[in-house]
Amino acid sequence: HDSLPTTPLSLATSDALFTRAKNHIPGGVNSPVRAFRAVGGHPVFMQSAKGAWLTDVDGNRYLDFINSWGPMILGHAPEIVLEAVRGAIGNSLSFGAPTQREVEMAELIKQMVPSIEKVRLVNSGTEATMSAIRVARGYTGRNKIIKFEGCYHGHGDSFLIAAGSGALTLGAPDSPGVTQGVAQDTLTVPYNDLPAVERTIAANDGQVAALILEPVVGNMGLVAPAEGYLQGLRDLCTQHGIVLIFDEVMTGFRLARGGAQELYGITPDMTTLGKIIGGGMPVGAYGGRQDIMDNVAPAGKVYQAGTLSGNPIATAAGIAQLTYLQQHPELYDQLNRTTTRIADGTRQICRELGLNYTVNQVGSMFSVFFTDQPVTDLESAKTSNTEAFGRYFQAMLHRGIYLAPAQYEALFVSTAMTDDLVALYLTACRESMREAHG
Ligand code: PLP
Repeated sequence: HDSLPTTPLSLATSDALFTRAKNHIPGGVNSPVRAFRAVGGHPVFMQSAKGAWLTDVDGNRYLDFINSWGPMILGHAPEIVLEAVRGAIGNSLSFGAPTQREVEMAELIKQMVPSIEKVRLVNSGTEATMSAIRVARGYTGRNKIIKFEGCYHGHGDSFLIAAGSGALTLGAPDSPGVTQGVAQDTLTVPYNDLPAVERTIAANDGQVAALILEPVVGNMGLVAPAEGYLQGLRDLCTQHGIVLIFDEVMTGFRLARGGAQELYGITPDMTTLGKIIGGGMPVGAYGGRQDIMDNVAPAGKVYQAGTLSGNPIATAAGIAQLTYLQQHPELYDQLNRTTTRIADGTRQICRELGLNYTVNQVGSMFSVFFTDQPVTDLESAKTSNTEAFGRYFQAMLHRGIYLAPAQYEALFVSTAMTDDLVALYLTACRESMREAHG
């Protein structure tokens, strides 16, 4: 099975489904980036997946570099997770009452992410970040938050604020439907620019409840924090009584068992989690210092709730995947080695073709930016040639490599990606880079 297709793809069933979908679902998809708008063409409808391989509804197979945008760190359908889910479903799919597994899940999260002293389970990353800033506001009695241009924290109103209006000016809504009233409480600052944060805090003295960021950014493509940047943010937050929130929805349990905060040795006040924590089921979580988390209802007055929160099937899947990661620390070395091979190989191919493209990598996340500039923030990410990227994406797809259908996304590597599969990827990469620049 370990080979890529040699005949042109037939996507007839996918195309027919997309035509139907557009009649019933806005844009034909349930999450915008799936529609392939940034790369052209029609989305591929998936049927099944196992390990590193996806199979679409027309029977085409692809090596997967999205892994459901992060959750499938062990590859698709790992037996250990499926078994846990099979074991759980016979006992009903939901109770709306406490269960033992929620306690076990909380204990496991605290062991793996020691900065978390209390944790609340929710159903998505979006819920986690929305709730975390509400709690930070309730705890500090302040209204404003600082976020960074190019960081994504889900689709909560407070996070959909246009970058570029400058750190010191009021935010403007990025999406119709977000009110000016909400937007003015979100201050946006360029990533990796500590003085800009200092100026923003000074200009909003005593008003900033929380500073939220992706400690390693996956949502403008993969961007790493500069040396000392996270410590600088930690110090500023401590100095000014601002709640430091690490949004580890992508990086949690991925960059290390304890996430980016373990990798970089920085302790945030609160952490938001999602993706890997559910093993592919809809789960999120937020947690942190006990004195902050004890403000959450019913312990405290900050309201937050959920009919399906702590769902028995989701916790079964999550506990199985997290336990496996906890017990197999060597997997992180394997993921790093595999992804370094992919990143180095891609860089080498680009050099051979006279393209000095920037390949950013941290652990098992990476991005190939179609620019020769170092990418350290949104502005530098935007120097990428997105048209060439679109051609490359299509060339890879037709060679059986499933990449994220947009330049400004990170790619995720799973433990199912063997060295032989990396070799297949690199062959396809060389041909596709050539084709995209032919
Ligand atoms: N935070 C980060 C860093 C994310 O990458 C995402 C989603 O990609 C979210 C929050 C939102 O999570 P969800 O899509 O589960 O609502």
